[in-house]
Amino acid sequence: MSATDKKNLQGNFKPQDAPQYADVLQCMRCGFCLPTCPTYALTGRERSNPRGRVALARAVAEEKLEFTPAVMEEAFFCLDCRACTTACPSGVRAGEVMEICRSQAHAFYPLGKVGKAFREFVLEKMVVSPDRLEKSMIPTRLYQRLGIQWLVRHLRVLKLGPDWMEKAEGMLPDLEKPLRPQLPDVVPAKGEKRGRVGFFLGCVMTLMYPNVSRNTVRVLAHQGFDVVTPKETKCCGAPHLSEGDRETARQLAQFNLDLFLAKDIDYIVTDCAGCGAALKEYEEMLEGRAEQDKLALFRSKIRDISEFLVEVGLRTEGLKEVRTSVTYHEPCHLCHAQGISKQPREIIRKIPGVELREMNESSWCCGSAATWGLKYSDDSKKVLDRKLDNVAATGADYLVTGNPGCHLQLAWGLREREMPQSVLHLIELLGRATPED
Ligand code: SF4
Ligand code: SF4
Repeated sequence: MSATDKKNLQGNFKPQDAPQYADVLQCMRCGFCLPTCPTYALTGRERSNPRGRVALARAVAEEKLEFTPAVMEEAFFCLDCRACTTACPSGVRAGEVMEICRSQAHAFYPLGKVGKAFREFVLEKMVVSPDRLEKSMIPTRLYQRLGIQWLVRHLRVLKLGPDWMEKAEGMLPDLEKPLRPQLPDVVPAKGEKRGRVGFFLGCVMTLMYPNVSRNTVRVLAHQGFDVVTPKETKCCGAPHLSEGDRETARQLAQFNLDLFLAKDIDYIVTDCAGCGAALKEYEEMLEGRAEQDKLALFRSKIRDISEFLVEVGLRTEGLKEVRTSVTYHEPCHLCHAQGISKQPREIIRKIPGVELREMNESSWCCGSAATWGLKYSDDSKKVLDRKLDNVAATGADYLVTGNPGCHLQLAWGLREREMPQSVLHLIELLGRATPED
């Protein structure tokens, strides 16, 4: 078999969005990844670890196995946390192979009419439109403001429904009015100007944690950068990739790529680990569909906020003292998907007065993983408990992180366990040290 045949072998996969055969061939079955896999820790099952999952995909590609319900189950049961990729000496990307298998799952086992209509409504109508997303939050804000939420929680009525419903309601932070329309198109740099950045406003971050987005703009300006926030920015496509809707993800990627490349900016900065990971994958997602030099230019500009501030050098003069202790949870899509681990710690250590207390297993998943934490709520609770035990052992005042999914899950878990810590995004912590003007 030639190298090209090996790369393109689809076997029992559908031709559209089949995993690359070369990607599954690389596994040498060494097992180095096994201790890093949360679903293996939960089940002890070979098929629920990276080696087993890659073996399933390889068997389908080699026509030794049909795309069975078991393959579909493993595709969705994988957290796509990518801890296995960090551990793998051969560079096998089991999480990404499983992500691709989710779109195969939709092709092999199409949803019923109602399920399909609901999925299309959420992924193709709502999530793609910042305006519709913001409007969809109005009833939830009313629910919170009119005291209905207090009543629902007090009477514990959601105990009667499925587990995911009570958890989803319990995770809701206090919602503010949408920030996006209030943000200026350009916020000028303060002090000596160092450049001009485009701010990629993540949809979940800005809706759930507008204080994070607000602080990102303020900190970047204070650090000497003009901050350009394109209001038309659409979802990065991460939820679509996670749910196996790769076509809509590609359309969003093309839109955001054209939007940001038309701006006069040196960098594109995001404060959301999930967005950063997706944006850095546009080059691969749009390969053969967009001009290669445009894809390379876009990729060269993307930075996570912590990566950016370390790269340009954090200006510490004028920072206020913040007397507190923190521990740091590494979002999977920051440490495993983007290899960013040292930079957030470097920033924390530079904030005057802040003591960083390292927790054990800081890069172990929190059990959120988009909708995984709702679909598998019992398993998610077990993964989260392991994380929160490690947080508790530090005795730190705050739990710092950098992704809205982790933030929601961790904040919910801390409340449920009545632990004293609260969650802060790294940029909120730096924002506390940054003077107001
Ligand atoms: S995925 Fe990587 S680490 Fe895991 S068994 Fe295969 S080669 Fe080894
Ligand atoms: S991505 Fe995470 S859950 Fe999936 S196989 Fe790798 S380590 Fe396991």
